[in-house]
Formats: sequence, C-alpha cells, structure tokens
Amino acid sequence: MSEAAALPAPEPALDPALTVGPAPATAGRPLLRLSDVHVYYGHIHALQGISLEVHPGEIVTLLGANGAGKTTTLKAISGLHHPRQGSIELDGQEITRVPAHALVRRGIGHAPEGRRIFGRMTVLENLQMGAYTRSDRAAVDADYERVFTLFPRLQERRSQLAGSLSGGEQQMLAIGRALMTQPKLLLLDEPSMGLAPILVEQIFQIIHDINRQGTTILLVEQNALMALGVARRGYILQTGQIVLADESAALAQNDEVRKAYLGG
Ligand code: ATP
Repeated sequence: MSEAAALPAPEPALDPALTVGPAPATAGRPLLRLSDVHVYYGHIHALQGISLEVHPGEIVTLLGANGAGKTTTLKAISGLHHPRQGSIELDGQEITRVPAHALVRRGIGHAPEGRRIFGRMTVLENLQMGAYTRSDRAAVDADYERVFTLFPRLQERRSQLAGSLSGGEQQMLAIGRALMTQPKLLLLDEPSMGLAPILVEQIFQIIHDINRQGTTILLVEQNALMALGVARRGYILQTGQIVLADESAALAQNDEVRKAYLGG
C-alpha cells in the first residue's frame, strides 16, 4: 500500500478523461515554475505532482473544490510548507527549501487565506509589518502611497485597530500588507471569500489594477467566474493534481468546467 492516504474526491469533479497536457506555451523564462511538486501533511498526500508556470506580467488562477490543494500549493511556493519531492523555481533559481522569511526578501508576497492580519495593531502598523525587511525608505513611502491610492478606505482608517475593520477592509489590508513587501509575485488566497458581491467586484478590479501596475499574480479562488475573467490562464486542481490547464477564455467555454465550477 502506498504511503499516501486516499483523499475523498471533492465535489464537483471533472472527468479525469478530460485531462489535457501542459498549459499553452508562453514565451520566455517563467517567473515561477513548479515541477512535479509533492506535499504531505503526515500521511496525507495533499499535492500529488503539481507542475505549473507563471510568466512575468501574468495573472494565473488556480481553481478547484474545497480540499483540492489550492492553499497548500501557495504555502509550498511561499515556503510555509516545503514539498517532500519536486522543485520550485523563482526567476530560474531553485527556492524549494528556502524559508518563508527569506522568500519575502526574494520577492514573494502572500496574502493568505483568512487574511491573518494583526487585529490589535492599527492599519498603518500592519502595513509597516509588510515593509519591515526593507531599508529603502523612499520606495517604502511610495508604496504606502500606492496602497492608499488602491485602497482609500485604508487611508481613512489608518489609525484604527485592524480587528475592528469589516471583512472587506481586512481583505484589502491583507493585500496591502503583501504589497508592502514589494513582491515580484503576489500570491492571493481566496481574496473574495465572505465578501458581499459589490466588494467582490471591487477586489477583482483592484487585482486587475495591481497587475497592470506590473505585479505578477497567482490567484487562488472559488469564484471561478470572476477569477477566469481577470486571469490570463488557469489551472484546475482536483484531489492534489492538475487536471486541466488552458487560457482562461477556453476554460470558461469548456463544458465540463462550466458544469463543475460555473454553475452550468
Ligand atoms: P479550501 O478551499 O477548503 O481551503 P484547498 O483547495 O485550499 O481547499 P488545502 O487547504 O490545500 O485545499 O487542502 C488540501 C488537502 O490537505 C485537504 O485534504 C486538506 O484536508 C489537507 N490539509 C490541509 N491542511 C492540512 C493540515 N494542516 N493538516 C492535515 N491535512 C491538511
């Protein structure tokens, strides 16, 4: 018997017969490349050979049902949970076992699931935490301005305790804090989770704007419709494996994807 415990198949599921090859060829060296990445939690084989690429300037989305392994993929990339097998490269350099704090310096910003903001600190102090590894004062000041321009609510509430913000504002703060690390690659885990529809639209507009300003983004989402709308390419993860990879427009037209993730 294999070491891996069998995971229950999540619903909805794609027919594995649909599985296609790698994502469409994208020119040049990828900013991020995962090759055959396997991650375990004890005996649970959460990622079973994930390979994916994110190219400079792209928004790429990673979609999948609860428990498919989306959060685990982001944790592997940001050094919070190292793979047992496989490799992760950032800009052509191996980072598979580099610790999380060092990866922040190397340009990986992570706005995690559940936001993980510091509730007893003010908005400004949370943002300062994002910039704590940096000594480039002028650029840090410019990044505060950038965050406050993207999120005027955060500027209005800069002295307020983060724990007293609404869910949408906390999400903005989590993204703003990640931006203060000046990431080359921004990892966003379920940014729309728990937000009212109007705020979901705002958050996706801001994701678009951040990308237009030059930040490459890997976006994990359950809101497949919005994610495919903003991303250039997408990967579909099922029970720890990529089962489909394509341009977003093609995924949005795919019958099985529509049935499984887009409500028909
Ligand atoms: P969700 O949208 O529910 O967060 P996900 O696609 O992000 O789902 P992961 O959180 O990455 O999925 O979980 C992948 C698998 O690993 C699941 O089977 C989950 O139960 C398991 N898992 C995740 N975290 C742990 C942990 N800390 N200990 C044990 N198993 C875990």
